[in-house]
Amino acid sequence: MDVVTDPVRMQELALEGRRRGEKSALVPTMGFLHEGHLSLVRLAKERAENVVLSSFVNPAQFGPQEDLDRYPRSVERDLELCEQEGVSVVFMPEAGTMYAEDASVKIEENALSRGLCGGSRPVHFSGVLTVVAKLFLLAQPDLAIFGEKDAQQLRLIRRMVRDLNFPIEIVPGPIVREADGLAMSSRNSNLSVEERAQAIVLRRSLLAVEKAVAKGERRVEILRDIVTQHLAEAPLGQLDYLSFVDDETLAPIEDLGDQPALAALAVQFPNARLIDNLTLDF
Ligand code: AMP
Repeated sequence: MDVVTDPVRMQELALEGRRRGEKSALVPTMGFLHEGHLSLVRLAKERAENVVLSSFVNPAQFGPQEDLDRYPRSVERDLELCEQEGVSVVFMPEAGTMYAEDASVKIEENALSRGLCGGSRPVHFSGVLTVVAKLFLLAQPDLAIFGEKDAQQLRLIRRMVRDLNFPIEIVPGPIVREADGLAMSSRNSNLSVEERAQAIVLRRSLLAVEKAVAKGERRVEILRDIVTQHLAEAPLGQLDYLSFVDDETLAPIEDLGDQPALAALAVQFPNARLIDNLTLDF
């Protein structure tokens, strides 16, 4: 397994692999790896001979009041896990080598990034798209794997690939959960014991929504009430947003119809902001 910190070296390695005709898959992460990340690596391995895992806590996607300084890190353990999973290259650049001091080009998206997480994290998706575009150019993958856990991010990346003609297939990976249903996230490790116990309300409330929809409920107002009732069981959590949107365009919907919809929410706990979502397909 190669561990590469220099972006120029990463691109050289990738271009060499490309010239040899090898197929490669990229799994972008911010490190502190868990089973959710490893499931994406396994998907990548099924599809490509070379798997590049990038591990980069990208400062550009954190707002000034956000948790950049408290984002958990564990480089040694991450490298062991990557070795065990058969990753070919771990790319872990330093922030200083990824961005020129006077960098002045960014990617902006003006439709899908407006609501949901984009509503409360205004610089976030521009930072994500810019770094993912850079990772695509550095790692030169044939395909890249992104988790459904970050539903808005996945849709935005598909849109960027479509609109900017990146020759890269975007492959989604299902959400991996803890035994009690909490979606795995590096940020879960920052939760206090009480917060962790209450964090299951995200999944519970979405499962209650799924059940109501299965019974025929289509009114978003009623579905919202169901979530609110569950969230009352987590007094440490404050609802950031709860959105019912078209699954592809992320446009808000009044009542569920025949089109697939996405129910997504974010809850701010004192030590971590958590997200979860559910696709409602009819
Ligand atoms: P992160 O390190 O949190 O930025 O996530 C890196 C990638 O792993 C993203 O594509 C995420 O959507 C994905 N991911 C994070 N958590 C999970 C999970 N619990 N299940 C599946 N994919 C995940």
